[in-house]
Amino acid sequence: MAAKGDMFYAWAADAACQERGECGGAVTALLTYALRSGMVDAVLAVKRGQDIYDAVPTLVTDPEEMAETAGSLHCGTLLLSKLLKKYLDGVENMRIGITVKGCDAMGLYELAKRNQVNLDNVLMIGVNCGGSVSPVTARKMIREKFGVDPDDVVKEEIDKGQFIIQTKDGQHKGISMDELEDEGYGRRPNCRRCKMKVPRQADLACGNWGVIGDKAGKATFVEVCSEKGANLFDSAAKAGAIVTEPANPKGVEIRGKVETSMLKLGDKWRNRYFEGLGEGKDRLKKIMDETGRCIKCYACIENCPICYCVECSTKKPYLVEPGRVPPPFMFHLIRYAHIADSCINCGQCEEHCAMDIPNSLYMHALQVEMEKMFGHTPGVNMELPVLALVEEKSERDRLAATGSDQIFDIFK
Ligand code: FAD
Ligand code: SF4
Ligand code: SF4
Ligand code: SF4
Ligand code: SF4
Repeated sequence: MAAKGDMFYAWAADAACQERGECGGAVTALLTYALRSGMVDAVLAVKRGQDIYDAVPTLVTDPEEMAETAGSLHCGTLLLSKLLKKYLDGVENMRIGITVKGCDAMGLYELAKRNQVNLDNVLMIGVNCGGSVSPVTARKMIREKFGVDPDDVVKEEIDKGQFIIQTKDGQHKGISMDELEDEGYGRRPNCRRCKMKVPRQADLACGNWGVIGDKAGKATFVEVCSEKGANLFDSAAKAGAIVTEPANPKGVEIRGKVETSMLKLGDKWRNRYFEGLGEGKDRLKKIMDETGRCIKCYACIENCPICYCVECSTKKPYLVEPGRVPPPFMFHLIRYAHIADSCINCGQCEEHCAMDIPNSLYMHALQVEMEKMFGHTPGVNMELPVLALVEEKSERDRLAATGSDQIFDIFK
């Protein structure tokens, strides 16, 4: 019997699934088994659309269609969390299996603690995540740095610190991520700052780190993270859907080291980005200047996993004067006030911004400041955010007694 904390190598028993999968197809085999056995009613995963730059979320109810979802798409910058709230009634009336990167899992936890998604009905298969590349950057990078027509690329992967492409004629070419990122290509800025590399909030955390020896590239490293995950893993193995063996101890050690070095890299990028923002009033001025380009398209709100309010405050005329473009700074202040303590740095508000405003950077910088002040880390568990714990009456009393209207002073 598998238990929380156990680590395995696993791969699909079915040869076709093994072949289609990124690293032996265990994730696809596990989700297919969950669907076939009735453990879940549907699976939300990702499939390739027009080309390798087009990651399409897809809801599968027929196990025969699961094969289309195998493989990793690193140039897809999707966040799956809000889809569960928006289109599947918060998973209140069905059971769903879902593949989640760290940010997807964090988004689901933030929605769950706000009662917008019912996690009891969600089976989360986590995939480790070194990062994703925006499709626009990927095409530009492949043309300019690799000297290849982006439409000639049939496969991409990120392996051993390199971004590797395979072209129609079977050629492989790789360039180090460090080199690409120093020149402004590579992973999205939020992914560089991300420190959710192994999503242990999911039921299983799967990835290629730590798979060594003859299994390298052919199996997935699985860490069991919950009882639900252990049950799926055991049942799938017993039913012959996956083949498993205990993880190689040397591989476990290597995986630990890679994770640690990725976390250090995340810190390095955080320092670099946050220092670039300046401090206090300089930071405020920078944010005000940049958001001065805003055309109030609402894409940041639409795509943020934490923004779901039916009556959004930014639409209230007494808070944000209507009919003005760019909108008054209050438009952005409202979001900072409502989201900052819970921002999961998923990058959606930046990815979708019509005016390329680095919204995610501002929000993430605020979140990290607040985490230092209040010790709350969003997306990792069901702990409530800071503002949920402010008791209105005592706060009003404090404001009346001190005459202060400031809860905390970030822009000193
Ligand atoms: P498969 O059977 O091929 O299943 C893969 C699953 O991932 C499918 O359900 C598919 O729909 C889903 N998927 C594909 N693209 C996305 C996407 N963009 N967002 C959400 N779901 C998606 N492992 C590491 O150890 N280190 C890494 O640095 C690392 N980076 C990754 C980055 C990305 C963007 C992704 C998607 C995965 C990454 N992985 C990483 C995980 C690894 O690539 C494999 O997914 C994992 O080993 C499982 O292999 P498999 O053959 O069992 O998966
Ligand atoms: Fe992966 Fe983190 Fe980027 Fe999400 S934010 S795609 S988990 S690196
Ligand atoms: Fe993601 Fe932006 Fe919302 Fe933060 S504010 S959770 S980065 S969309
Ligand atoms: Fe809700 Fe505030 Fe987001 Fe508007 S900006 S949707 S009010 S959290
Ligand atoms: Fe403004 Fe960008 Fe948000 Fe659109 S997505 S409202 S342009 S900040």
